[in-house]
Order: sequence, then structure tokens, then C-alpha cells
Amino acid sequence: MPNGHSHAFQRALAGAGERSGDAGSFWSWRSLMYRLAADLGPDEMELLATLAYLEMLESGFTSVAEFFYLHHGPDGRPGTAMAEAVVRAARQTGIRLRLVPVYYERGGFGEALDPVQKKRFAHESVEAFVDYVRALSGVPVGLGAHSIRAVAPTSLERLGAMATELGEGLFHIHVAEQVREVEESHRVHGVGPIGLLDQLGLVTPHLQAVHGTHADARERRLLAERGANLILCPVTEAYLADGIFPAAEYVDQGGGWAVGTDANVAIDAVSELRLLEYGQRLSSGKRSNLAGPNGIGARLWQAAARGGARAVGFPVGVLEPGAYADLVMLEDPCLLTGEDPDLDLDAFLIGGSRGTITQVYVGGLRRAGSRGAADQAALRAEAGRLIARLRQGPLSRA
Ligand code: ZN
Repeated sequence: MPNGHSHAFQRALAGAGERSGDAGSFWSWRSLMYRLAADLGPDEMELLATLAYLEMLESGFTSVAEFFYLHHGPDGRPGTAMAEAVVRAARQTGIRLRLVPVYYERGGFGEALDPVQKKRFAHESVEAFVDYVRALSGVPVGLGAHSIRAVAPTSLERLGAMATELGEGLFHIHVAEQVREVEESHRVHGVGPIGLLDQLGLVTPHLQAVHGTHADARERRLLAERGANLILCPVTEAYLADGIFPAAEYVDQGGGWAVGTDANVAIDAVSELRLLEYGQRLSSGKRSNLAGPNGIGARLWQAAARGGARAVGFPVGVLEPGAYADLVMLEDPCLLTGEDPDLDLDAFLIGGSRGTITQVYVGGLRRAGSRGAADQAALRAEAGRLIARLRQGPLSRA
């Protein structure tokens, strides 16, 4: 299962900002996340990413698209040290990484950058960003723009045109996650976020649209008809109170999709798929939404794996000649009878967790289920100490 969208450093946020008042909205959560991002250094980045990637492997994710905008060092100096820390974390754990460097240039529609955005995320120009991406030689990269809030239309157009040459045909962007973004897009551009991308010629099979929660019916149909890929992040979308995407209708229209763990506050591949279906059940009042005649588990896992392969841009997500041998083994005698694969995968989807997974192979090499427990215990303890420090520092209440 490829993970189509991750911000590894946000693993440290699980449990922070949950008191009444703190948790007000997406935008107040974003302020908390900026406090974490403000001073995080490469060593801390590497440790948090290593923890997140190990947990991804344990839960069945074998590759990951890391949507990366924490570019500059804690002193604000440009460089590749932060990105290289992510690459080291992926190499240590064995997860297959697609780094998606993300362009960021403004604080919102017509707004200046705030201090954290300016110090850590933003490049001076598209040219400076392109130089930075080229400096990441030897790393498989896709190209990203943060959102239509953070990147002006002229820059979006230029970046989209470079996706083939610089990003192996991948163009990732957050879209329509929040109602406010949609309202502002209508006010400024007269269309919604996906409508704007369409005006710029960017709704193509290269487009990896993240969230799309509040896309309207016309925009959803456009994504499906143009062969764009939508990356749904159900756990994060629930955590941030984003809303519920009408996935059943979109899938009926033939829309392609993947899942992503986004904020990484709870990393578990099957939980993403289960919450995707449960969101449809809660909003439709029907039990059968994304299921087919042979059930739901195999259908959702396979669709997300195929769409995930597009999001990461690697030959993965299927068992066929020429694809990487990325394999997830399940064993839980209580849930899985071994008599009917479809029924077993239904049981896994409804009742399973990362605990149902016994072995995970990436490119034929065992990467989870076989590591020494001591190694992981030491890593978890070190990451735990870092997260405790962050909780007492930048993540503590002002
Ligand atoms: Zn995101």
C-alpha cells in the first residue's frame, strides 16, 4: 500500500492541542503546527521521520510521497539539510520514498508570508525553488505546490509546466480541504480551487489533488473525467474536522484515488480505508457505499494501492511482472479463516489493524515484522524523549 501524502514531522503533534479552546479549528491547529515547525532541526526531523516511516511500514505502507515544505534550516538559511534528513530516515527504515518538494510563496490570497512561513517554507522565486529541487540529486522527486492559497496562479502555471521534466510527471497540491479556502477562491477568482486549476490547464493525469473535501459536483466530475488522482486522508480529515468527501459518488464516476496519512497522528493503512467507508456510512445512512458484489476489503485495498502507485510514481501496488515485490502478510487466526480471500480481506478491513500484519516486504526485502524489538524500543524511547521536549517547549500552551 503506497502512502500518497505525508508530513512526517507532524508525527509529534498527536495528543497536543486537544484541550477545549486549543482545538478550535483547522486554523488554530495550524498555529500549533507552526510552533512545532519554527525551530525543528535536521536531527529532530530525521528522528521524527524515522519513527513515522517505521510505523508506516508496520501498518502496511511500503512507499510514501512525502509532501515536504520544511525546507530551510532553523536559522532560515536555504539548503538541503532538512530534505536530506528525510531521505536518511527513509533509507534507514527501508520505505520507498518519493520526496515531493513543495513551493510556497505567500501567506494567503494576497497576504504576506508570516514569520514561520518565511523562515522555513518559502523560496524567493520559482527559479530559486527549481535550483533547490535540482540540488536534491539522486533522490526520486515529484513536484509540489502547497495550495492555491500559498502559491499565485502564475507560479502554479509555471510549476505545472515543469512537472514532467523536474517531477517525473507528478504535480501534488492541497485543494479544497477547508470551506474558507473555497470561499476565498470564489471571491478572488470567481471559481473554486479545482476550477482555478482547470483554468490554468492543470487538471490532467499528472495532478495529485490532496483532500478535495469541499470540491463541488462539477469539480469532482472534472477530476474523474480528466484522469486526475485524488488523495484522501480520512484520519487527518476527521482529526482536523475538515469534513467528509462524497467518495461513493466519485468512485461511481470512475474517479481515481489513493489514501494518505497526512498529519501522521495515527498511522495505520487499514484504518484510513475503514474510516473512508465509515464516513460514507455516517453521512449516507447506508451500510453499503464503496463495496462491490465481492465485498469491500479487497476492493478498497486494491483501488487505494493502484491510486497510491500513481501518487508515488513507482511500479507498485500490484502483483505482476515488472512491479516491485512490495508485500504485506496478514495473520490473525481470530479474524482470518484462510478459506476465502475476499471474506478475509473484509474481516481485515472491518476488524483489523496493524496488529493483523505479520510481515512487510519492500522490493523483496523484509522491512517490518523482523526487526529486533530492542532496536525499535531504543528508537521509540529516543523519539519519545524528543516529543516530550517539544511538548514542554514549542507545543506547550502559550
Ligand atoms: Zn497535507
